[in-house]
Amino acid sequence: MIFVCNCNKMFYGERKYLVGGVSMNILVINCGSSSLKYQLIDMDNENVLAKGLAERIGIENPRIKHKASGKDEVIIEKPMPDHKVALELVINALVDKEHGCIESMNEINAVGHRVVHGGEKFTESVLITDEVMKGLNDCVDLAPLHNPPNIMGIEACKEIMPNVPMVAVFDTAFHQTMPADSYLYALPYELYEKYGVRRYGFHGTSHKYVSQRTAEILNKDIKDLKIITCHLGNGASIAAIKDGKCLDTSMGFTPLEGLVMGTRVGDMDPAIIPFIMEKEKLNPNEMSNLLNKESGVLGISGVSSDFRDVEDEMAKGNERAKLALYMFNNRVIKYIGAYAAMMNGVDAIVFTAGLGENSAEAREEICKYLTYLGVEIDHELNKVRGKERIISTENSKVKVLIVPTNEELMIARDTKALI
Ligand code: ADP
Repeated sequence: MIFVCNCNKMFYGERKYLVGGVSMNILVINCGSSSLKYQLIDMDNENVLAKGLAERIGIENPRIKHKASGKDEVIIEKPMPDHKVALELVINALVDKEHGCIESMNEINAVGHRVVHGGEKFTESVLITDEVMKGLNDCVDLAPLHNPPNIMGIEACKEIMPNVPMVAVFDTAFHQTMPADSYLYALPYELYEKYGVRRYGFHGTSHKYVSQRTAEILNKDIKDLKIITCHLGNGASIAAIKDGKCLDTSMGFTPLEGLVMGTRVGDMDPAIIPFIMEKEKLNPNEMSNLLNKESGVLGISGVSSDFRDVEDEMAKGNERAKLALYMFNNRVIKYIGAYAAMMNGVDAIVFTAGLGENSAEAREEICKYLTYLGVEIDHELNKVRGKERIISTENSKVKVLIVPTNEELMIARDTKALI
């Protein structure tokens, strides 16, 4: 497969492929229940050839936003009853003479799929086989909202590109190195044995990418570093990474645990759940909705789940917006302190994802409470959005960095490594 594609490239006279040896384009796919996000990455240079998002699959007014590198974004509005049709349209866009970036589907050498939950079965990325498909289906119980669309995406690819190798990259896999004292809840042990009730952690691909990149930037072996990675987006989680391995992370059995998030409550006394259910006459579904979609920064501020809106409101003097942001920051500060203690020190603290990469104010506020660890921020260096850089001073005992996350690239790298 790879050889054939290489010949195509050679035929079309792209010199870099003649020099660089085997060429490889990897399609990275992230399927949600009604969406399909994609990137086609040239692994010779890790450049993104095209990316886009198919949305409203299976509902009215579906569309694809597609952009090939160096070309204008296009919006494709066509019926998309299911993920297979959406994927066909995405491939049409990729090979389109005007808006595309490849000559034919043969130039897609492999597909990397983001899969949310790998349970305890998948401790690393895997080449997708029939046995792996069975394993993925076994994990549906653990992520009933997320894994089925991921599986649909894989099935659609299998039908359209039956001979192209595919790899599954799990959000949970990086966290499988957590020791039992980190991943167990203090519930009766049988519940773990019977139902797999334990902490799994999410955003693993991001924590892995960001920690590896941190070691590269600091020019250190990751095995010699204690790193705390803060993935602060709409969904938010923190991980303690020692010797390149996850020791603990803030999300748990589901992505609901841990930090205060855009709409998720994060840590709280579980006794509140039956109490509210009884008082408000809520069924389990309604309660789950309240905790996942109506809480967090949105629930406290009453303004929005988007940190930008809440920061704007706070600037205008809205007290509840201020409270929501303070609560968010406090929880981050608490976790950083806890993880520094667990690792008996910390060498680097890293900010990533929407808020972590973009909000100088949030980073400033959080780091203000970390001076006891030896954190010293360079206020000028911190005034930046979405750029990879060290933002601590030369003298800071703990290095503080911004590392924009790149989950797609991490998925593509794992895919390349496995095929
Ligand atoms: P997710 O992938 O979990 O949806 P992202 O990592 O894309 O989240 O982060 C999205 C969030 O990041 C937005 O909801 C917004 O609150 C926050 N964000 C993005 N840019 C900024 C900014 N400039 N200032 C503050 N917050 C920002």
